[in-house]
Amino acid sequence: MQLVSSIHLSLPASVLSLVEEDVRYRSIDQQMALVLKVTQENIDRGGGPFGAAVFDHEGRVVAVGVNRVVPDSAPIAHAEILAIAAAGQRLGTWDLASVGRFSLVSSTEPCAMCLGAVPWSGVSTLAVGARDEDARAVGFDEGHKPADWVDHLTRLGISVHRDVARAEASALLRAYVEAGGSLYNGAVDNAGIGAEPKRSADPTSASSTRR
Ligand SMILES: [Zn+2]
Repeated sequence: MQLVSSIHLSLPASVLSLVEEDVRYRSIDQQMALVLKVTQENIDRGGGPFGAAVFDHEGRVVAVGVNRVVPDSAPIAHAEILAIAAAGQRLGTWDLASVGRFSLVSSTEPCAMCLGAVPWSGVSTLAVGARDEDARAVGFDEGHKPADWVDHLTRLGISVHRDVARAEASALLRAYVEAGGSLYNGAVDNAGIGAEPKRSADPTSASSTRR
């Protein structure tokens, strides 16, 4: 077995093809509609039911991200992480705030990991669809997040918009699970630290499923 010298995180061509590069998605509702479209396409391509995109201040798409945890064997391949990473690489900067004002739009509120990445990314706005409880209701684990995370981001100068097309966004989560979408648990779950790693789980019995 060889050590890995570069990390492969994929964004399916069919997902990218849904983005109209010339279009300005000016309203948050338009931006979320695109994010939900790429999310559905990702589900159809074997990915998880989470999508995100970075938009510039005029509403142009800079990058999209979708959840590729299972197909890429990458526990960090969450939609927000891929969108932020793709935006940084496209613009040639690790700090988006240094080159403009950008919004991160995500189909579901960020999990604990992605929440940490939001201020590091330099975006000035975060818009989200489904809430934590919507994700938890179908068995996903959002990780440990401070209850005042919205206030915290606001204090950092990041404006947060919640419940953008929440009904449609949470319906995608439910449909994914009801269709038997691939679910997986981390090594640590609600059964306690040290529990046996589970590679897959019956969605009807999953109590803790990481995104
Ligand atoms: Zn996440």
